[in-house]
Amino acid sequence: MASPQKLHPAHADLESILVTESAIKRRIKRLGAEIAETYPNEEITVISIINGAILFTADLLRAISNPVRLDCIRVSSYRNKTKSVGKPQLLHSLTLDITNRHVLLIDDILDTGKTLAMVTGMIEKQNPASLKTCVLLDKKGRREVPFDAEFVGFEIPDKFAVGYGLDFAERYRNLPCIGVLRSDLQNPPEW
Ligand code: 5GP
Repeated sequence: MASPQKLHPAHADLESILVTESAIKRRIKRLGAEIAETYPNEEITVISIINGAILFTADLLRAISNPVRLDCIRVSSYRNKTKSVGKPQLLHSLTLDITNRHVLLIDDILDTGKTLAMVTGMIEKQNPASLKTCVLLDKKGRREVPFDAEFVGFEIPDKFAVGYGLDFAERYRNLPCIGVLRSDLQNPPEW
């Protein structure tokens, strides 16, 4: 008899689940194959925007069969708890030279579009051979600047998502699924 599935303790802090752990696994396998087909026999320079894209990048890279170089960048959080309040800024620049390289930029979620518009503008200035973007989640209805990612894991509604790399005050990144944080937990005085 199959044993009942154990839930991660942080599940109790979610009001609903948007994407299950198994759906994430299946989609990443397909995304990896799509990406490999897009760059046949080419090396890809992957730029991951951390911390949010850490888990997604780690799993996606293992689903891509191409040779890969990896660099990570950090963008300052311009958010106040759950809402965007200013302009994103790059906290440190790239380590790898990306001139004439095929660059694949990876982020956790595309929301207003400000972060990816800023980062792709910075990358374009370094004359890559090509630049494409891959996001795990897309909140299409929330765009403030026009931006489309070439590879998208899931479209989600306008809800504050946590889990699988996405945080609230640096918590919940280790949740294996993606869910909506309960509204009563979105403003705790001690955080
Ligand atoms: P954008 O610049 O497109 O508005 O937002 C991109 C960044 O905002 C993401 O990389 C992520 O850090 C954060 N973000 C946007 N929506 C959410 C959300 O629903 N949950 C979490 N945890 N972060 C979000």
